[in-house]
Amino acid sequence: MEQELNIQKNVALAPFTTLGVGGPAHLFTNVDDEFGLMQAFEFAQKNNLEIFVLGGGSNVLISDNGFQGLVIRVGVRGISLSDANEGNVDLTAGAGEIWDDVVRYAVENDLAGIECMSGIPGLVGGTPVQNVGAYGQEVSETVVSVRCYDRRDGAMIELTNAECGFSYRTSIFNTSEKGRYVVLSVVFRLKKGGTPKLAYPELVKELENAERKGVSSDLKAVREAVVKIRRRKSMVIDPDDLNSRSAGSFFKNPIVTEDALNSVRSITPDPPFFPMSDGNVKLPAAWLIEQSGFHKGYIHGNVGISEKHSLAIINRGGATAAEVVGLMTNIKDAVKEKFGVELHPEPVFVGF
Ligand SMILES: Cc1cc2nc3c(=O)[nH]c(=O)nc-3n(C[C@H](O)[C@H](O)[C@H](O)COP(=O)(O)OP(=O)(O)OC[C@H]3O[C@@H](n4cnc5c(N)ncnc54)[C@H](O)[C@@H]3O)c2cc1C
Repeated sequence: MEQELNIQKNVALAPFTTLGVGGPAHLFTNVDDEFGLMQAFEFAQKNNLEIFVLGGGSNVLISDNGFQGLVIRVGVRGISLSDANEGNVDLTAGAGEIWDDVVRYAVENDLAGIECMSGIPGLVGGTPVQNVGAYGQEVSETVVSVRCYDRRDGAMIELTNAECGFSYRTSIFNTSEKGRYVVLSVVFRLKKGGTPKLAYPELVKELENAERKGVSSDLKAVREAVVKIRRRKSMVIDPDDLNSRSAGSFFKNPIVTEDALNSVRSITPDPPFFPMSDGNVKLPAAWLIEQSGFHKGYIHGNVGISEKHSLAIINRGGATAAEVVGLMTNIKDAVKEKFGVELHPEPVFVGF
């Protein structure tokens, strides 16, 4: 049955985020289906309100003043499977499904393709936005299509993988067409009985240790190994682990030219780097940050750097967004001054 739109006033947003900072939404609504979403957009248009679409809040920094418009939290549910070509299976998941539940479901059904992205917080709708990835796998490798509401044309649309314009932590959703589409569901093409992707040395090592104990490298073992590694780094959300009160990696790994790499080399020999197919190289932001004087466990008032992961800015308790921005700026400035490399934040800034 179609539900009435339920608009709440002055809703604290911090509890809807993993970092747990920021002010309230002037107006807030949960939508569970396409009809609800259309109603919310009609309401916003009638009342001339700005809109922010929220998922699991694991990649956002909400300003201390909150958001003055309407926050729409997309809760469209549903997971289903259908046979595709050549022994592949299409998994369709609603934008409001918890991402890690979908990964577990795939692994339990012996479907390969998203296992390395176990334990990433957030909802399915957020995954194509920044082309979520971990341990050598990205959603762009399996996304077939993304069903969206197109705000510009006021219509539902299916975007193909190519139309999503995926690249490292980017897609059209967070670049050229930012704010235009609301993701309602995503179709992933997975391989029935496929072998897990083992592209990441740290993951391979973890599995080798497990195999010595008699565990084979099937999808389930890979999922377990990934979650184990992530837990060690506080990269799974655990209410008892202060180091996980973050927005994940706060900075993207910068992609720089060979010349820029050489200038980094001239300052600190043998920097770690990953060659890209276009001739550029990806530098680990964590290394740049540590080399610039910001170590794990660094404290800056109520915020700090995770004791387990130098890329994660954490809320140590009672933090403000201004403090998060302050630490971010100090880190960016130090890296720029030492290496001449510009760091870019990964989370989305809301209400700034
Ligand atoms: C501890 C931790 C570990 C993490 N590890 C990783 C990792 O390994 N790899 C990685 O890639 N990311 C990682 N992240 C970042 C984050 O989990 C992902 O980016 C996630 O996909 C964000 O989803 P979300 O539902 O929380 O989105 P939100 O944080 O709610 O929103 C993020 C952006 O997506 C947009 N958005 C959300 N839902 C929709 C929708 N339905 N339609 C349109 N736009 C939408 C929002 O408007 C916003 O711009 C981590 C975060 C944390 C806290």
